[in-house]
Parts: sequence; structure tokens; C-alpha cells
Amino acid sequence: MTDKTYPPSAAAAAHAHADKAKYDDMYAASIADPEAFWAEHGKRVDWIKPFTKVKNTSFAPGNVDIRWFEDGSLNVAANCIDRHLETRGDQTAIIWEPDSPDEEAQHITYKEVHARTCKMANVLKEMGVTKGDRVVLYLPMIPEAAYAMLACARIGAIHSIVFAGFSAEALGARVNACDAKVVITSDGAPRGGRVTNLKDSVNQALLNDFDEVKCLVVKRTGQQIAWRADGDYWLHEMEETVSDDCPPEEMNAEDPLFILYTSGSTGQPKGVVHSTGGYIVYASMTHQYTFDYHDGDIFWCTADVGWVTGHSYIVYGPLANGATTLMFEGVPTYPDAGRFWQVCEKHKVNQFYTAPTAIRALMGQGTEFVEKYDLSDLKVLGTVGEPINPEAWNWYNDVVGKGKVPIVDTWWQTETGGHLLTPLPGATATKPGSATLPFFGVQPVILEPTSGEEISDTAAEGVLCIKDSWPAQMRTVWGDHARFEKTYFSDYKGYYFTGDGCRRDADGYYWITGRVDDVINVSGHRMGTAEVESALVAHSKVAEAAVVGYPHNIKGQGIYAYVTLMNGEEPSDDLRKELETWVRSEIGPIAKPDLIQWAPGLPKTRSGKIMRRILRKIAEDDFGALGDTSTLADPSVVDDLIENRMNKS
Ligand code: ATP
Ligand code: MG
Repeated sequence: MTDKTYPPSAAAAAHAHADKAKYDDMYAASIADPEAFWAEHGKRVDWIKPFTKVKNTSFAPGNVDIRWFEDGSLNVAANCIDRHLETRGDQTAIIWEPDSPDEEAQHITYKEVHARTCKMANVLKEMGVTKGDRVVLYLPMIPEAAYAMLACARIGAIHSIVFAGFSAEALGARVNACDAKVVITSDGAPRGGRVTNLKDSVNQALLNDFDEVKCLVVKRTGQQIAWRADGDYWLHEMEETVSDDCPPEEMNAEDPLFILYTSGSTGQPKGVVHSTGGYIVYASMTHQYTFDYHDGDIFWCTADVGWVTGHSYIVYGPLANGATTLMFEGVPTYPDAGRFWQVCEKHKVNQFYTAPTAIRALMGQGTEFVEKYDLSDLKVLGTVGEPINPEAWNWYNDVVGKGKVPIVDTWWQTETGGHLLTPLPGATATKPGSATLPFFGVQPVILEPTSGEEISDTAAEGVLCIKDSWPAQMRTVWGDHARFEKTYFSDYKGYYFTGDGCRRDADGYYWITGRVDDVINVSGHRMGTAEVESALVAHSKVAEAAVVGYPHNIKGQGIYAYVTLMNGEEPSDDLRKELETWVRSEIGPIAKPDLIQWAPGLPKTRSGKIMRRILRKIAEDDFGALGDTSTLADPSVVDDLIENRMNKS
């Protein structure tokens, strides 16, 4: 893999919140004395009752307990809205860009966000929601999704967002799991030019067992919807009679702010619980430093609010910082593959944050869609969600950033609340494919997978763990603290186990090699599947690739590659040979795929992550038990892959 280094430009360093010297100093201080460091940075948000205790955390087996700022009280909505009213009440808080470019964008000021959030908070109160109650959000990417999150935070209700693309069954399971009192949805959800009827899914989800769950409906499309006999309310009607002022509830720092289920890439989704104080401190701080956000910048994170990325970097982090955050209802390829860049030009976006899956998809469509637009306002490009193949990194850098815009490859998880490994634009020299260095206060370690020993050499490879707590760490699995301990703290005692494999190079840079479950062992050589995938994607005819292991008589495990070709390329046996030779020359004979299956599509979660656990089952001919597939974006691709699976004899 490439080890080419891109140092931060002098210009980026000059105006950045942190240049290299400052990063080094702040990082060293954060590790030497976390109490003092976070006592200072904890003050970046407004407290109702200031904290006197900073950190009280234990990873000890049987007694995992994480508390930050535990005697302080605050309100997250007040931090995201009220405290900006005096200084920037008329500044745009949210730019909303609808699915169709023909519909008008909205510019919503902090004052307007305040009024709309307060109204929704009062509506929720009227519906009987009180502090500690759970509210499920099942909404398109419309401003009301942000108001709903903030309205819950304002009255101390705990929100749990379910991605609007999920089925009625997945929704029902999540409503049940957190015992929600209210579901907030809309009539329809336009996305990529198609409209889904969300209210129908809610009706189906609540059909039998959940009559008592109320439903608040936002009018988005005005389409016909079916109303239940009882318990359904239009938001706009309810809002007619409530005040646009709602005093924020005083919350303890450790009160839960939200529950969010993980993507389900590796198994049954987990109900991750985040707290109030530590979360907002960390979300706002990472938003400011990672993206080098400055007042007046236009920030765009393309994630859905159904993912943690949308929580921390569309809503909570940016709004806590008084930013202008762009919220996009649509998809990257509608009406065509230039949509992202058209929106960047239109709203003069300064920081753009997306996922490798989107970059790879757009890369496959050619450069002309990017070149049409003026992207000169871009200052930072971000990526998150999966390891980014150097090929995609280079395309992002060269074609989108014209070689002038720093890339931040941010590694983190639903569980971590905010970035743990990431470059800072004015401070960190980047290497394509590496998430580089830890954020302030984060102590990554590489453990030897079987012994669990910490590897002290700088250059190391093994499993990635975190040695001590950071403020936005998840606090528990909703209703199942034992599962929390078992999942994250039992394999490697005394550490937070990330589930990811990782390599640290001689410069101390971290390279995520994929999930630990995805490591394969070929003739005694351990290999991250990401490396083989990157080599395949580096071939000009390959758009995407997913690699898994399968039982092999001689080698122990063989390499099974699913390959999606670029638009217009035809599969052939010659191409198969060409790819084998290619990987051989890129990595070495050991990495040569044993089997290559042409895959018109790959099974992905709704957030675009490849579900290798399903591909592994298919490669092992064990497709009777595919496990939880409720979070798959398009279940039909699985049938095609099963049908055309490779013969192993
Ligand atoms: P589940 O935990 O249910 O299997 P998931 O891990 O996909 O689902 P998320 O919390 O959305 O759920 O994803 C976090 C994971 O995504 C990380 O553990 C890592 O594997 C991957 N990831 C995120 N960002 C990066 C990145 N910048 N580089 C490499 N991998 C990344
Ligand atoms: Mg995970």
C-alpha cells in the first residue's frame, strides 16, 4: 500500500485551531492529566450547575462504570440553540436542501430553530411525554428531524432514531426494545425521486401489540395516508395551540440523551446509550477541531440522522458550536451523479463529510460530474464509515479537492460518540488510507490478538483497543448492562475493545485493517481483508470488492472475492485471470484470490457498509442461516449472490 505523505499546507496550518505544535502539546496534556484537560474543555458548553467532578470511570471486569462531569447539570438543546440567540439569532443554523433540486432550499435561523423546537417540545408534553420517556423518530431528512431531536433533549426525553429506510418489522422491534411512548414520523419520504409512505410502515409496526403508542405526524408530501383509530396527531395541528417557548429541563450530565442501534454489520444491532454532558462536550470539540470549523463556515455532513454520524455531525456538534449545518434529504446519484457537487457549489460548502461507499460509487461514474461545478469554497474533505481504499482517497483528493484540500479520514463508532482517530487539517500530515493519530484524550493501543498483551513497539499489528475512557463513550447497552460488559470489556480485560483490527506504522500512524472477524488466515499468514479489497479496487475495471475467507483443504482458509465491475465493463475469464495476477503483483502471491465471483451488487447496510458476515456465509455455502438481515439496504442482491456462488471443488 502507498505510504505517500501529504503534509498540511502552510495556509491550512496558519489559520487552523491547531497546528502540529499545538496538537502535540494539547495531546500530551490530555494524556498526562485528563482531569485537568477535560475540566478546562468541559467548560466549552454552558452548565446550569457547574461540575466539580470530572472523570470517574472504570473498565474493571464486572464493574464497568463510566461517568463524566457527574455532578454537573445542563441542557443539550439550550446549548445547541438558546445560548446562540443573543449573538447569532438571525444567523442560518440549518440549510435544508430537499431531495429534488427543483424544490426550494430553506435557510433556517437559530431563532426559528428555537421557536420550532419549543413548539414541538410543548406538543410532546401535551401528548404525555415526560423526562426519561423514550421517543422513536422515523423521519426523512427534513428540518423537523432536528427539531424533534432537540425537542426531546429540551424536555429530557430520550430519542431513538430509526433510519426511515428500515422496514416496519425493524421499526417495531426498536419501538418495543426501548418501550417508546411516541413515534414521530411523516406522511411520506421523498428520496432519490421516489416517495415512500412512512406512516404506513408505522401503522404496520404498531398494528398489533402497540396500540397505546402515540404517533405524531409531520406533513411533508401531503399524500394520502391511513390514520389509526386512536393516538395519531398531525404536528401542524397540535402546534396551533401550544406556545413557542418551552423552558429547558435541567438534566444531570449522566442522564441519557439518546439510544441508537449500531449498523448490524457484525450481528444483532446493539442499543447504544449516550449521555448528556460528556457527549455534547466531545461532539462539539471534535466538530470544531477535526473539521477546523470557523464561524461563518458552511458545514455539510451527508449522513442520515439515523446514523451516529448524523447525530454528532449534522445536529449536536455543529449546533453546539453555533455553526451553519447543511441537511440534505436526497441521495448522491439523483437526479444524477453530480448532485453532491452541485449542492456544494450552490451553498458554497466549506467542509464536506461523506462515506467511502459514496466516494467509490461516484468514482465509478467518471470525473465529468465533478468537474462541472465550482468547488473552490471547499476547505476540508472528510470520510467515515469504512476503511477508505487509497484509490478512493486519491480520487477524493485529486478530483474533488484538486490536490489542495486536506482530507480527514475519521475512525470512530456508534459506541464512541465522536472521532477517536483522525487527522486535524492544519496539524496532521496524512497518508491515503490511514486514520492517522488519536484525538485529544484518546489512548489507542494495539494488542496481540491471542495473548491480549499490549504491543509496545511503534510498528505493530493486532486488535485495536482503547486504554482509558473519553467523555463521549457509550455508557451502557439499553436495558442490558451485562451485554455492554461482555461485548466491549471481556475479551481484553481492562480495555475498551473496538472489534477492529489495526496496524500501527513506524511513524505511529494507525491503519484500520477491518473488523477482527474479517481477518483471514491463509497458510498461516494473517491478513486483513481490507488490504486485498484495496488492491482489487485499485484495478481500473473494478468499482467495488469485498473479500472473505472460506474453508480451504490445504491453506486453512482460501480467499473469496466478490467483485463489482465499473459501469460498462464485461466479466470474463480473462479478466478474472488479470485480477488474480494484479493482486499477486500488488501484494504478493499469498494474497491472490482463490475464487472471484462477479457481483452486480454487494449486500450493504443502509449506511453503505458491506456486510461481510453474509458474504462469508455464502462463501461457506452456509446460506441457510444468514442471521439478522433487517438492516440490509437491498435484500435481493443476496439471492443473486447465492445463485451464482462459486463452486469450491
Ligand atoms: P455493528 O457494531 O452492529 O456490527 P457497525 O460496527 O457497522 O455495526 P457503526 O458503529 O456504524 O456500526 O460502525 C463503526 C465501524 O465502522 C468501526 O468499528 C469500523 O469498523 C468502521 N469504520 C468507521 N470509520 C472508519 C474509518 N475511518 N476507517 C476504517 N473503518 C471505519
Ligand atoms: Mg460495530
